[in-house]
Amino acid sequence: MGFMKVAIYARVSDDKLTTEGLRRQDINRQIALLTKFCKAYGWPKPIIFQDDNKSAFKDDYQSRPDFCRLLREIRAHRVQRVIVEDLTRWSRRIEDGLKTIKEAAEIGCTVTSSAEGEVDVTTPDGWFKCAIAFLLAEWSSRSQSSKVKSGMQRRKNDKSKRCPHCKVVHLGRHPASCKCKKCLKGKGRSKP
Ligand SMILES: [Zn+2]
Ligand SMILES: [Zn+2]
Repeated sequence: MGFMKVAIYARVSDDKLTTEGLRRQDINRQIALLTKFCKAYGWPKPIIFQDDNKSAFKDDYQSRPDFCRLLREIRAHRVQRVIVEDLTRWSRRIEDGLKTIKEAAEIGCTVTSSAEGEVDVTTPDGWFKCAIAFLLAEWSSRSQSSKVKSGMQRRKNDKSKRCPHCKVVHLGRHPASCKCKKCLKGKGRSKP
C-alpha cells in the first residue's frame, strides 16, 4: 500500500448556487473537508479533481472534464482510492453511476464517501447504497427539469403574456429588435 495514490473528487452541480462566489466557496469547502478526511485516515496527500457543471439537470461527461480525467487515471491504475463528499458527487445518474463505480472497483480502486463511508459496490449492501443514492439524485434532477419545462410551456401558451410588438411570448429578455412600449422606453435610457 506504500504507493497508494489517493484522489479527491469535488464538484458543484447545484443550481441553487448561482453566483460564482458561492460555487467557488462550495468547491473549496468540499476540498478542505476531504483533505482533512484523508489526513485523519493517514492516507497520502491527495490529487485534486474538480468540476463545476453549471447545469444541474445535465450530468454528462462534457460538463465534467475532470471526472473523465479521473476515470482515465483509474483505468491506468494510477489512482487506488477516490474520496467524495457523498455519492451524488460521483454521479447523479443511476445507470452511468453504477457502471463507472463498478468499473473502478473491478480495477481495484476504492471509492470512499465522507457521508456514506467506504463503498464496495461488489457487495449487496454497497450496491444497494450506490443504487439508492444515484436513483434518488436522478429522480430529483429529472423532476426538477420537468417542472422547469412545464413552467416554460405554460408561459409560452399564456396568450395574455404575448408581446404586443412581436406577437410571441418572450421567455427571457426581449430581443434587441423588439419595439414594444417597455423596450422603447428602455432604449431612451443610455446603455451601460
Ligand atoms: Zn417583443
Ligand atoms: Zn419588448
